[in-house]
Amino acid sequence: MICPVCGAPLVPEGGACRCEKGHSFDRARAGYYNLLLDSASHGHGDDKTMLKARRAFLDGGWYAPLAEAAGEIASRVLPDGGALADAGCGEGYYTEKILAALKKAGRSFTACAFDVSKDAAKMTAARVKEAAVFVASAYRIPLATGSQDLVLSLFSPFARAEFARILKKDGFLLRAVPAEDHLWELKQALYDEPRKNRPDPVETDGLFVPVKTVLVQKKLLLPGEAARALFEMTPYARKTAPADRDKLAGIEELAVTLSVKLLLTKKACETDGARV
Ligand SMILES: [Zn+2]
Repeated sequence: MICPVCGAPLVPEGGACRCEKGHSFDRARAGYYNLLLDSASHGHGDDKTMLKARRAFLDGGWYAPLAEAAGEIASRVLPDGGALADAGCGEGYYTEKILAALKKAGRSFTACAFDVSKDAAKMTAARVKEAAVFVASAYRIPLATGSQDLVLSLFSPFARAEFARILKKDGFLLRAVPAEDHLWELKQALYDEPRKNRPDPVETDGLFVPVKTVLVQKKLLLPGEAARALFEMTPYARKTAPADRDKLAGIEELAVTLSVKLLLTKKACETDGARV
């Protein structure tokens, strides 16, 4: 970790971490550091309701095939003793599963996880003991340039320039993005005119080169409660009119398609050191 004020390395010291210039950041009792300086960013992350819905849904194991596939890819690409960062870790479900997969594969690692939401960092810190957890924006990451072997960005903002900056030469970026038919039936249940997701744009900026795409697909038969929790954890929860939202209130079960692309890319070597 580096100091978000001056960029010097942060060293843990008692219940805080400190840089050589004396900037100090306390470790919250819940086990995370708040390295977010910009007060304008406060409250921009996911709120507690959404995080709790996400935890309830994910702990039901519905997205386990996705966590397993991501863990398998991470185990393959992370060198032994490598450093990984989970950017936009949310409540920590994937962080925990992926680190467990690495341990199972006999891999040693240094891990950190961060989210712009303080509530998310708190939930992740309580769940994942093997990672340094902090509050930070993906667009201003308090990690040293060229320090990471693997960056995870699962359903979180794609801060391409920052991800390229913190990655080592030949480092990997693993993203999870919804495929076109992801949660299609949920949208059909909610909206009169549902739309498919737009296909992910092809990389054109030269920061990353594609390595592999894995499509994770599964039909889930969700009990009503799980379907409602799923809705609450998606971006639709904020955009849906109350009249449409009410359509989910009475349903007893819903068959939904999980369809997510795991995009593995590698940092393009010509960008090395180009962006700071
Ligand atoms: Zn400093």
